[in-house]
This record gives sequence, structure tokens and C-alpha cells, in this order.
Amino acid sequence: MQVIRSIHDMQQVALRLRRDGERVGLVPTMGYLHEGHLSLVRRARAEADVVIVSLFVNPTQFGPNEDLAQYPRDQERDEAVCSDEGVDILFCPSAEEMYAPDHGLYVDEDCVTRFFEGASRPEHFRGVLTVVAKLFNIVQPEVAVFGQKDVQQLCAIKRMVRELNIPVRIVEGPTVREPDGLAMSSRNRHLSKKERQQAVCLRAALDRGRALFAEGERNAERIVKAMSEVITKAPLAELDYAAVAKADTFEPAVNAESGDIVALAVRFGSARLIDNDRLC
Ligand code: AMP
Repeated sequence: MQVIRSIHDMQQVALRLRRDGERVGLVPTMGYLHEGHLSLVRRARAEADVVIVSLFVNPTQFGPNEDLAQYPRDQERDEAVCSDEGVDILFCPSAEEMYAPDHGLYVDEDCVTRFFEGASRPEHFRGVLTVVAKLFNIVQPEVAVFGQKDVQQLCAIKRMVRELNIPVRIVEGPTVREPDGLAMSSRNRHLSKKERQQAVCLRAALDRGRALFAEGERNAERIVKAMSEVITKAPLAELDYAAVAKADTFEPAVNAESGDIVALAVRFGSARLIDNDRLC
């Protein structure tokens, strides 16, 4: 596995791969890799000849009071995991390499990103879309794989690709979960033992919302209330939001329909967890 740290080197390799007719698949990550990330790597392998994983904890997507400094990092382990998984190239630039001191250009989407995660974390999606656009320009992949775990992010990225006419095919992979239903996340490592036990409330709340819908409830407000009640029963959980959202625009639903997203953000101490599922 080749490890590349410079943008110039990565672009040179990308150009050569393109010239040689290789299909490049990119999996962007912030590292501290888990099975969720690896499922995307496997998906990329199925779609492409050359699999590139990027590993970059992107400072512009963290707010001033968020966990940039505490975000878990273990590059040595990530390199070993990627190598074992058959990744061809690991692209891991430094923050200084990615952002010049006078950088000042951002990609801003103002439809999908107005709601929920966007409302709770101002500037988060601006940072995400900017770094994803940069990665696309640097790696020039034919296909890029993202997880449904971050469904609003996925929705915003699809819009960016469409509206900026970026020639990258976006593929999505399902959320990989722990045996008790907790969605895998690098941030789970910040949970204490008690918090970890109670974190199953996210899955339980989504299940409650889906069950109500399956029983015929169509009032989104009532579904949100029922999900919120499940979260408030966990003493260490602090609900940020519970939502029923339209899958294409992420607008809050009034009448829930099949295909809508049920989504949650919940704090456990310093860890903020998100999860979602689809109504059917
Ligand atoms: P992150 O490193 O958390 O920024 O995530 C990198 C990519 O992995 C994103 O496309 C995420 O949606 C995806 N991802 C994170 N957790 C999971 C999971 N549990 N299952 C599937 N994909 C995931």
C-alpha cells in the first residue's frame, strides 16, 4: 500500500491512473477506522480497480466549541487496517497541506443543510462540502463511497455533485452496527461504560418511530415525540433533536410518508452521536 501525504504527489498519481484507464474509487474518512469504514472500502473495491482511502480530520467542519482536539486519532493502526484490507493508496495530508494560511473559499449549500445537523452545527456542512470537493479535485475518482450513517451529509454531497457538475459517481453503503444496534462511530470510544449501555436508546428510538409508522401513524410530530420519549428515558442521554425528514430535501416532514428519514442526535457527556433510518 502506498502512503501519500502531499497533494502534488496524489494528483500526479491520480493523473497517471486516469491515463492508464484505471477506475479509481475513493473512500473519504476522518480515520480511527472501524467496520463501518471497512464496509465502504469493500464496496469501493467492488466498483473500482484502484481503491484510495483518504484520512483527514478536517478542521473546517468542526465548530469552535466542538471536539476537533479530542477527535480520536491513531494513524499507525489505520495504516495497518487499510493495508490488511487491500487498500491501494492511503492519502493522509496534514491540515497545513490541505489549507493554506490564507484559504478563504468554501462550498456552501443552503437547501439540505438548513435543517437538523446544519441547524445544530453551523458551518459544519460548509466544511464537509469544501473538503470533499477538494478531495475530488485531488484524487479525481470515478466513484466515491459514503455511508448512510451520515445521511444528511450524503444528501448534501449528492446535491453538490449535481449542482457543480462534478464527474464523480456517488455510491452509498448501509450503516454498520454493533451487535446491540448502536451504529459504529469513531466517537463511541468517548462513551463511559454506563453511557455505552444507554447508547442503545438511539436504535430503540428509531425502532419506536418506525413501528409507529408501520402501525399507521402519519403525524410526524407524534412520531418525533415518541422517539424523544425513548431518549429521555435514558438518564445520561441529552436529546439534541429527533426528526422526520424528507429524504431528498431534508425538510421536516408534516405528514410522514414511506421513504422519509427518521433521524436523531443525542449527547452523552462530550460525545454527540447521530443515527437514522428510513420509514417503510
Ligand atoms: P467519518 O470518518 O466518521 O467521517 O466517516 C467516513 C465515512 O464513513 C462517511 O461516509 C460515513 O458516513 C461512513 N461511516 C461512518 N460510520 C459508519 C457506519 N457505522 N456504517 C457505515 N458507514 C459509516
